[in-house]
Amino acid sequence: MGWKTSGYLKPKLIVSAIDRISLSELWNDGIRGLIIDLDNTICPWRQSDVIMEADVLIKDALQRKYKVCLISNASSKRTQRIAKLYGIPFFAPAYKPSKYAFKKAIALMGLKEKEVSVVGDQLFTDILGGNRSGCYTILVPPLSKEEFIWTRFMRLLEKTTMSRSRNDYIK
Ligand SMILES: [Mg+2]
Repeated sequence: MGWKTSGYLKPKLIVSAIDRISLSELWNDGIRGLIIDLDNTICPWRQSDVIMEADVLIKDALQRKYKVCLISNASSKRTQRIAKLYGIPFFAPAYKPSKYAFKKAIALMGLKEKEVSVVGDQLFTDILGGNRSGCYTILVPPLSKEEFIWTRFMRLLEKTTMSRSRNDYIK
């Protein structure tokens, strides 16, 4: 049981910034869809401005014919506003790490789990949910430090978990 839990919490890939994600490499690996987190992944926490690097990534992905979907535990209104900018679907609030929204998104994109990569900044929501759903999980560093006390608690847990695993797959 223990090994299974830690396996689920382990991202398949860790990048030092969102623009280090190589869309051509992912495509070569058979990835055709991206499920992307909102807060602290493409927007600073609770803000509605997508950072330039994430904006470039999303537009590039769409141009390369990737399916892209936003899945956020944030409010529906703010997520919808951002999804609309790109004309992409969204699920919010998604109650990650529940598999529900991930499964819905994968079905909506018309892809198999293995063809979908989940990009997010949190182990206990994005990575855990993505791994449980059978997707290729990519952990990005959080954009801002300002966040809920609950999220801060989760980060403390993450640090403990991360320090126990060797990060030889950092890009
Ligand atoms: Mg996040």
